[in-house]
Amino acid sequence: MPELPEVETVRRGLLPAMENTVIAEARVNREGLRWPFPPGMAERLTGKRVLGLRRRSKYILADLDSGETLLIHLGMSGRMRVSGEGLGLFHHAHPAPEKHDHVVLEMASGARVTFNDARRFGVMDLVATGEAEAHRLLAELGPEPLGNSFNEDHLVAAFRGRNTPVKAALLDQRIVAGLGNIYVCEVLHRTGISPVRKAGKIGAARVARLVPAIREVLGEAIEAGGSSLRDHRQASGELGYFQHRFAAYDREGHPCSTPGCGGTIRRIVQSGRSSFYCGTCQR
Ligand SMILES: [Zn+2]
Repeated sequence: MPELPEVETVRRGLLPAMENTVIAEARVNREGLRWPFPPGMAERLTGKRVLGLRRRSKYILADLDSGETLLIHLGMSGRMRVSGEGLGLFHHAHPAPEKHDHVVLEMASGARVTFNDARRFGVMDLVATGEAEAHRLLAELGPEPLGNSFNEDHLVAAFRGRNTPVKAALLDQRIVAGLGNIYVCEVLHRTGISPVRKAGKIGAARVARLVPAIREVLGEAIEAGGSSLRDHRQASGELGYFQHRFAAYDREGHPCSTPGCGGTIRRIVQSGRSSFYCGTCQR
């Protein structure tokens, strides 16, 4: 499942193809994905200029000159592909259509943006730009982890008295938006905090250390994603999936990478999801 750094990488990869460019033709090949598409979606996209591409949590928001915003979520398996000439970053011929190409945007620049989603958990919706942040999928979200309103005071207050494991607290999208299982494992390993420790039992100084760790871990992954965009070996034009080394995630049985630790990464299941951590240096 794409996490925040993957979505940010997709957004950056779409910029040269879409920003300040008219959607010459939108083709919608089915009635919806996770939910039905909004009525007349193809007509409401065709002929509109994309003024900008923003990201909120794991959603991409394309603001159009019609006053509407196209909201995109990649779901479990959604893939964005950019093809066509003259994009600066991508010079891929249009590939043959694939079975799960559900939405195709032919840009006036000659670029083609294809949204493929085999499992169909993805989302596309149109909302008035002024009301985008109030969309039912965005309204409850907490602060952006890379934004200014996510800070030490906010996290200390959010954790105070909370009786849930810190893992669950960091996955709670109302506390901080866009963190998923992979990067929470990494953040907890980096800060030496056990995923099973109750959020409300962690001292304020340790909670505060989570904030820069979250920014670092996400920033490094976004950097790796940016490298993948520049990597000419990424011949498919597909955005957002890149190789990234993790210290804890999916490292069960491997030696802990914390200097001087000597422990081993283990896996437990919390709320149905795997947590990878070192029982020696994470307390
Ligand atoms: Zn360790």
